[in-house]
Formats: sequence, C-alpha cells, structure tokens
Amino acid sequence: NLSLKLDRAFKTLKGTGTITEINVATTVKEIRRALIDADVNYKVAKEVTDTIKTEALGRDVLIAVSPGQLLIKITQEELTKLMGGKKEDIKISGDPSIILISGLQGSGKTTFTGKLGAHLKKQGRQVLLVACDIYRPAAIDQLKVLGEQIGVEVYAEPENKNALEIANNAIAYAKKTGKKTVVVDTAGRLAVDEVMMSEIEALKKALNPSETLFVVDSMTGQDAVNTAKTFDERLNFDGVVLTKLDGDTRGGAAISIRHVVNKPIKFISTGEKMEDLDVFHPDRMAQRILGMGDVISLVERAQQSFDEDEAKRINSKIRSNNFNFDDFLSQLEQVKKMGNIKDLLGMIPGMGKAMKGLDIDDDSFKPIEAIIRSMTPAEREQPDIIDGNRRKRLAAGSGRTIVEVNNLMKQFADMRKMMKQMNKMGGAKAAMSKML
Ligand code: GDP
Ligand code: MG
Repeated sequence: NLSLKLDRAFKTLKGTGTITEINVATTVKEIRRALIDADVNYKVAKEVTDTIKTEALGRDVLIAVSPGQLLIKITQEELTKLMGGKKEDIKISGDPSIILISGLQGSGKTTFTGKLGAHLKKQGRQVLLVACDIYRPAAIDQLKVLGEQIGVEVYAEPENKNALEIANNAIAYAKKTGKKTVVVDTAGRLAVDEVMMSEIEALKKALNPSETLFVVDSMTGQDAVNTAKTFDERLNFDGVVLTKLDGDTRGGAAISIRHVVNKPIKFISTGEKMEDLDVFHPDRMAQRILGMGDVISLVERAQQSFDEDEAKRINSKIRSNNFNFDDFLSQLEQVKKMGNIKDLLGMIPGMGKAMKGLDIDDDSFKPIEAIIRSMTPAEREQPDIIDGNRRKRLAAGSGRTIVEVNNLMKQFADMRKMMKQMNKMGGAKAAMSKML
C-alpha cells in the first residue's frame, strides 16, 4: 500500500531522526520507488520526484530549521499539483441537465449513479435516474432499489432493448415531470469492447450531456489507466470517478489517470453504502497518500524544541566560517532539549557527519560540556588560541584528561573544516545537488 511505502520512504526522518544530505537524496529516491510500486507509471513518478528534488534545492532544504517537514511539504504540494491542484465540480446546465455515466462492468457505475442522485438531491435538485443497462435486467432492479433507498425516482423500460430510445424517453419524461437533473446509468463490459464503445458514444452524441463521467475501479492499477485512456479517446469525458478507495489505498491510480488523460477526478467512492461518496480534493488525497500523521508528529516535536532564531543565527555563523565553541555549546543545549540525542543530532547542519562514528548518548556530552565551560570567553570565540598550555589548564579545570581535551579540539577542528568545505562548494545546496 502506497502510504506504507511512503512511510518507509520517510523512515530516514522517523527511524533515525537524522536529516542529512544523504538522507534527503535517499528519501527522494524512495519516494520515486514507492510511487512506482503503487502503480504510478514510471514517467510520472520520475517527473514528480525530479520536481521535488529541484524544489528542495531551490528552497534550501538542508539549512531549513526542519528539513524533514519542508521535504514532506514539497512532496505534498507536488502530488496535489499532479492531481489538478484544486477540486473541480461537475457541470450542471441545460433543461434538463444530463449527466452520463460510463465505465467497465463492475467498476461501480450503478452504485455511483445512486450516490450521485443522493448527492444532487441534498443540493435541493429534482433528480431522475435512468436505467440504460439493457443487457442485465438485474442492473435495472439494482438501480430501482437504490432509488427507493435515497428517495429519488428511477426511469426504466425493462422490455426495451434500445438504450438510445430509453434515454430519449427518459428525457421527455423528465421535462414533463419537472426533473431538472438526469443521471443516465449505462451498460459496461468486462473489458473494453467495440459494441459497448459505439453504444456509449452514440448516447453521448444524442444526449449532449453537460457532464460525462468515467467511473473506474481504483483497485485495477495500471489497467485503470489504460481503460481511462481508451474511454477518453472515444468519449472525451469531462471527469473521473475513482471507486473502491475503501480497500487498499491506491493513490497511484489517481495520480496516473490524471496525468495520462489530463481530466480532473471529481468524486471518490469509498464503500458500498449510499453515503460513501466524497468530492475529490487533490490536497486531501495527497495527504492521504503520504500518510502524514506520524511523520508530522516527529517533525513537530523537533520544531517545538528547536529554537528557530538560534538555528538561523548558527547557520549564518557556519556560512561565514565563524562557528566557535559558544555556538557548539548552544547547539548541544538545543539537541539536549529535544530528548533523544542519537535520533536528533543530525538535524544540525554538519554536525551529524562530524560526529559520525562516535558513540553518542546523553552522558557522552558531559565531558565535552565540562571542557567548554572551563574555557575563557576569548577561547570560546577564537578556538585557535588554545595552545598546549591552555589545554593543560582546561583539563585540570574540567577534571578531564588531556587526551579528552585533545580529542575535543580535534573533533571541533574537523567539524569546522567540513563546514568550510561545504561553504566553498557553495553551501549545502551545492553539496546536495552533487549527491542527488
Ligand atoms: P457497475 O457494473 O459498474 O454498475 O458496478 P456496480 O455499481 O454494480 O458495482 C459492482 C460492485 O462493486 C458491487 O458489488 C458494488 O457494491 C461494489 N462497489 C461499488 N462501489 C464501491 C466502493 O466504492 N467500494 C466498495 N467496497 N465496493 C463498491
Ligand atoms: Mg451497473
């Protein structure tokens, strides 16, 4: 399931909690794989992840206060855009206004026809449902039962084997009885077939509906995309209804169909009951695909304890090669506030890499802190003045060994060297683009 896979894609942000250049690259790659696994076709998945990458670089994800959240936000925005950006309503015009329902057998047309009837009735419209599935008598009864359930009249001619005639008679009946909105349910086949296609094509030509909807089972994956393409080539439909989204969340179908036929998804169907119908909102669907719940909570936790202004200040010091022991101490404080140090250390630019290989827990900061606190303000600001004599004094003052002091000085020097290199490469942005 897509959201599970994307969860895994974001595992670098959740599991270890560290957000580094490498994690961003890995995450972007994993997002692509997750989308492909969820039936998003390769080209589309590549396009969207390329965009995410570009956006991430443009917005300087790595020096952001919370790179993880920014990356998630960008991903969500891109998926939303891919699915059309904003919701699109069905067109209702004409007297009567006609809505034609198309799709394969079993896709959920008749069920949706009932749901749409209830939806339109709720908007205060006078609705007539029309049973044009001439091949399956049971389909007529099915629609009649639904009509009764929702209190909407159903027009049917069980003896008539001409769908076009039935539809025309239904419209005359609608005019006579003041029904302003007519929804025409049609016959589908198990697979795309010429008889079905010419029939629905003829219906569209004759009825001139204000809205032609294509109903598709979201569980059918890549087939759904091919079917959508075939129907659109013959019908030039206005919108898509995605059904059976209550089972396995195949967000992939929504993304691919939208991309391949470039027609908006207008409704989603999430169950067999008449009330299981939702207007399609691209942003909500993107959120659902991303399964954002616990990813967001991790990021919120980090953000609550991470002082935004302080992070900005430190970033600017890193960029100007002025990072000193005061900043180092302040970073340690920030990290400690967040709780699990191992999890969160890597959120500090450069820090995760510099400290890699060290076995870090809360206590391992104590000697470091003790040594830094023994430094004079001048030593903290200009670490370069800390010579052999000063090191001896620091060791004595903090109650640590000279080896520990030397180790800290070495680590700090390495960290600064790495930061300088990063700046020389043009900052985090360039470092990241090299890695992606
Ligand atoms: P049609 O052949 O296109 O008219 O499809 P139907 O409306 O008869 O639906 C086929 C089957 O799918 C029926 O058993 C419906 O109850 C079921 N169905 C339709 N829509 C949904 C849905 O959104 N979720 C689930 N779980 N089942 C659905
Ligand atoms: Mg049917």
